[in-house]
Amino acid sequence: MRIEIATLFPEMCEAVLSESIIGRARKAGAIEVNCHNIRDYTLDKHRRVDDTPYGGGMGMVMQAEPIYRCWQAVCEQLGERPHTIYLSPQGSVLTQEKARGLSQMSSIFLLCGHYEGVDQRILDKIVDEEISIGDYVLTGGELPALVLTDAVARMCSGVLPSAICFEDESHFSGLLEYPQYSRPEIWEGERVPEVLLSGHHLNISRWRHAESLRVTKEKRPDLYSAYCSKEDAEK
Ligand code: SAM
Repeated sequence: MRIEIATLFPEMCEAVLSESIIGRARKAGAIEVNCHNIRDYTLDKHRRVDDTPYGGGMGMVMQAEPIYRCWQAVCEQLGERPHTIYLSPQGSVLTQEKARGLSQMSSIFLLCGHYEGVDQRILDKIVDEEISIGDYVLTGGELPALVLTDAVARMCSGVLPSAICFEDESHFSGLLEYPQYSRPEIWEGERVPEVLLSGHHLNISRWRHAESLRVTKEKRPDLYSAYCSKEDAEK
């Protein structure tokens, strides 16, 4: 899969995407992520990419033309039109299910806004969907694009050792994950639950499911109700 990020701050994205699991997966060729500097596509002799908003008001608006030229160059490189996403606080909030769907696409293009945002005309022309990472406003789309890239990339084949690594985690099945423990067996007088030391796989799996239900009910009653309704509907 290819993830193409259009931004005014490519170094900010590269710094994060070169590290840890995603950095290693990129090096190994399991996933391709490219950062494009929108400023490289301006025709303005001062390399301007923004201007004041029509109608007045605070801040600057990113202009349509450099973004369009960047997007067209990426389409040409890819040989296809990527699924095009504008990271925006107005979009639908990112979920595990959405990230899973995106991880099965051949290419996605992520447009990071900055300042007051982006000229509406470019959004109308190229964007397939707007995605938000939560109901709050950040200074730019780079952190949201990195969040989305991480969530999507870890579900692409070859990035994690096996699909179990992301399937057996919070949100994948609609529940939160059970508690995890590691060495030592006793820490500050607190013991690891006995069943986890038993080596009895069926009992461990039953305990984990029961704990997932308990934790979800306690921390996220909204998810718990949705999970129970889905289970009832499937009976
Ligand atoms: N004026 C815009 C509004 O009120 O909807 C907010 C612009 S925000 C200051 C600048 C950029 O940050 C946006 O264009 C968007 O790309 C990004 N951004 C901010 N908050 C975000 C969020 N919660 N999710 C995704 N992107 C966000």
